[in-house]
Amino acid sequence: MQLLITKRILATMRWVHLVVIALLSVLVPTFVADAAESQSDNDSSTGSAEGNGARQVVSMLDVSSLQAGKHEFHFFAGTDDQGATMLVPVVVVKGRKPGKRLLVTAGVHGDELNGIGVIQSLIADLADRELSGTVIAVPGLNQPGLAANSRYFAQSTNGKGRRDLNRVFPGKLDSSSEAARYAGKLWQGLLSNNADIAVDLHTQTTGSSYPLFVFADFRDARAKQMAFELQPEMIKNDRGQKGTLETAFLAAGIPAVTYEIGAPQKFQQDLIARAVQGLKNLMKTEGILRGAPQVPDNPSYVGSMFSDIHAASAGVFELKIQLLDDVVGGQLIAIGYDAYGVETKRYFAPKSGRIVSVATGTEREAGNLLARILY
Ligand SMILES: [Zn+2]
Repeated sequence: MQLLITKRILATMRWVHLVVIALLSVLVPTFVADAAESQSDNDSSTGSAEGNGARQVVSMLDVSSLQAGKHEFHFFAGTDDQGATMLVPVVVVKGRKPGKRLLVTAGVHGDELNGIGVIQSLIADLADRELSGTVIAVPGLNQPGLAANSRYFAQSTNGKGRRDLNRVFPGKLDSSSEAARYAGKLWQGLLSNNADIAVDLHTQTTGSSYPLFVFADFRDARAKQMAFELQPEMIKNDRGQKGTLETAFLAAGIPAVTYEIGAPQKFQQDLIARAVQGLKNLMKTEGILRGAPQVPDNPSYVGSMFSDIHAASAGVFELKIQLLDDVVGGQLIAIGYDAYGVETKRYFAPKSGRIVSVATGTEREAGNLLARILY
């Protein structure tokens, strides 16, 4: 009996053994093929087809020499501390018919992302349209800042790198500041030579929010018109700051505005969609897109002065107003509390006007902006 059982077990084992060998003969080649396939996928992602290799690296771009259609480039803007190349993405959509060149830039402050979403949506929207002219879009000007999720050109350890890139334009190729060199390369090889009009897309900085809000220097008649054509909720007639892209463009005779789109570090799809509509309006006025510009439901609120309310001491803050609220002088804006919940100070509106910026974080350091009134 015992012998019979042993024979049966041996027979079963032999059968199992044969099945395992048969299965392996099928599975092993499949596994090897999968591995080879995944290896070739990896190769193509760093090589051509879908990867970076499909986009030409340029250090000088002249869109007048391009064929009609959509083009994507990497603009070479120098090397970082480790010698790695800094490549700025550029998308060009050129119409079959001649016309104006609209330059749209985003991400000169690396924590301000909505403008990148605006450019991506705009380019997708233009895919099937007939253009008379060219759109040059730069979705991510400050590559080191974007990588570090920082407002600043977060480069270099010698202290000269941490600059606000939007204070060093038009830059300088032989500057001692790496940020100014980077700006100079962009300015000379990409920005100033490919624009008839320019819109620089921003958001409010980390910890605060704007609505749809345009800075425009009304001394330039076209820049003033552009501000209204973009149909923001608010416009500031503003002389601009030295070193901004907007100021550099205006000094070069290129009408330009700075367009603030909401809050940093995220995509706000409702604001992105409205900003795209505004840019298309501008393109219609310029004749780049066909059709009549849209008439806004509500006219933009216009002011020329800011009145800022800053935290007198660190703590937590209860805001009594929201973006776009109309306020009158003396109105309660915020209440500050210390860590024990004891009220430290009440903050009142110094001026009558409309709220253009609010703090988005409950906790604020001494000196931080709580609210900003445009009047
Ligand atoms: Zn900004």
